[in-house]
Amino acid sequence: MRISTITNWAYGITVVLTALSGAAFIMSSRSAIQERLAVEEHLTLDTLAEDLALGAEVRSDEARLYVMRGEERHLQAFHAEEEAERQREAAATKLMAKGLPAAEAEALKEIGAEAEELDKIEIAAVEAFQRGDRAGAQGMLFGAEHERLQTALLGTVRHFRDMTAARTGAELEAARARSDWWSLLAKIMLGITGVLFLAVLYFILRRRVAVPLVRMTGIVGRLAKQDYTVDVPADPRRDEIGEMNDAIQIFRANGIERERLDAERRADQRTKDLILQMMHRLQACQNQQELADVVARFAPEIFPDIAGGLYLLDESRGLLTRAGVWLEPQHSGCVFEASACWGLRRGRPHASGSVDADVPCQHLDGSEASALCVPLTAQGDAIGLLYLEERGGTALRLETSRLYLELIAENVGLAIANLQLRDKLTDLAIRDPLTGLFNRRFLDETLRRYARDQGGEPHACLMIDIDHFKRFNDDFGHDAGDMVMQYVGQVLRDTVGQAGGAFRFGGEEFTVLLPGFSEAEALRLAEDLREKIRAAILSHSGRIIGAVSISLGVAASPLEGAVETLLTRADAALLKAKQEGRNRSVAASRMDQANGGA
Ligand code: GH3
Ligand code: MG
Ligand code: MG
Repeated sequence: MRISTITNWAYGITVVLTALSGAAFIMSSRSAIQERLAVEEHLTLDTLAEDLALGAEVRSDEARLYVMRGEERHLQAFHAEEEAERQREAAATKLMAKGLPAAEAEALKEIGAEAEELDKIEIAAVEAFQRGDRAGAQGMLFGAEHERLQTALLGTVRHFRDMTAARTGAELEAARARSDWWSLLAKIMLGITGVLFLAVLYFILRRRVAVPLVRMTGIVGRLAKQDYTVDVPADPRRDEIGEMNDAIQIFRANGIERERLDAERRADQRTKDLILQMMHRLQACQNQQELADVVARFAPEIFPDIAGGLYLLDESRGLLTRAGVWLEPQHSGCVFEASACWGLRRGRPHASGSVDADVPCQHLDGSEASALCVPLTAQGDAIGLLYLEERGGTALRLETSRLYLELIAENVGLAIANLQLRDKLTDLAIRDPLTGLFNRRFLDETLRRYARDQGGEPHACLMIDIDHFKRFNDDFGHDAGDMVMQYVGQVLRDTVGQAGGAFRFGGEEFTVLLPGFSEAEALRLAEDLREKIRAAILSHSGRIIGAVSISLGVAASPLEGAVETLLTRADAALLKAKQEGRNRSVAASRMDQANGGA
């Protein structure tokens, strides 16, 4: 039952009980008044009866004294008493008129009659005395008749007093009993009101309001401090406190939901921040390995429960090689054919595993693992693959993070494409298109770097010129000339390899820089080159071109001269080789000796 209903009922009952106990008190005081009236009536009647008897007696005495002594004062007293008696009789008549019980009125009347009989005798005796009949008067007043009447009067008065006493006594008793009963009833009502009030106070205020309120105050306090671990037990009562409990439960549920959304938003924001950080670093990467390292460093931080790898397509676009890896993916190899991945084949993200029930990629180990392959593309061309694998087996995280994963893949793809484009542009800027060797500009740059960084390390330089090249052009056409140039370039590149750099100086002249080489070592390499080039018989368009010979000038630094003069010295040695009949190598130091010797 609702507290307001209980309170209303308690209030109503209290009001009714209070009114009833008030009425009982009124009834009780009314009975008390009746009791007082009964007492008063009893006293009045008793006094009247006594006065009647006493008055008759006093009168008889005065009459007797008069007839005995003949004193006038007794006669006056006798007459005065007559007046008093008349007043008493009037009072008695008044009482009778008020409605005395018949028996009492009869007794009162009888008293009056007997008193009158006595009066008659006494008046007759007084008159007889006044006439001088003293003996007759005394005989009347002391005679038997007077005695009888007096005794009868006293008897009647006693009888009347007994009757009134009995009647008023009964009335008094009844009034007293009524008064007591009403008073008791009033007290009981008052007691019940009090008990009801205390019960309401205890059950409603304490048990149903105060105790739950104190408990709820504690709960609301903790909820206000965003402590949602506080337990809000269900309250089955359907009253105001129960409704308040429901409201607090809803408040707590809302708080928990808000907190969950906040945490989700914070996690989401953190993910975005990390992705942004990663993107900034991707932009600054110098090469693809650096880029793969950045992805491998950030990916596990962004998605701690997703393992993966970054695969790059080789130039032939047939083979994928893993360039970066994080959180130890279990189900895909380091190298596999591009055709083994459905994601690359379809050009869109492909989920393998139990959730999508899609065809699993062939590069997976065949287990039921959840994996996602997001192809990396740049301007529509596949350039690699972002491989992702759920740790622990469920594809839930992969699905929920898919948008972000695709965003990452898109950015990684763009960054790789940018790097490749930059490499291509750099290549274009520093390589000669015909031979694939570095160009003159890059040679100058490299030499400047040598000059700048020189710290006493040796450097050697070969200047190479194809002998009588003009003839190839003239005899077999420019294409054949180009072919010869490409052939020489290829031999240079293959022979020099990692030992140094091969450059096309211009026209049919080439330069080879050999860091760490002494002049003698460089001369050996020069001879090796010359012989290798000379060894092949070239042909073009079915026509034999013949063997190609080159002349070489060799110079070295720093023992033989400054880096800045390396090229000039080698060129001078080349000129010398030409002059000496071509198809030979000449060391600059030898020329110096010769010059010195001359
Ligand atoms: P030498 O033995 O004295 O060096 O005689 P040479 O004929 O090799 O030298 P020369 O300087 O007289 O001729 C070089 C020729 O190379 C001139 C030029 O037409 C030709 N040439 C320069 N660059 C190219 C090129 O890129 N392709 C072709 N086919 N010919 C080129
Ligand atoms: Mg030349
Ligand atoms: Mg030449």
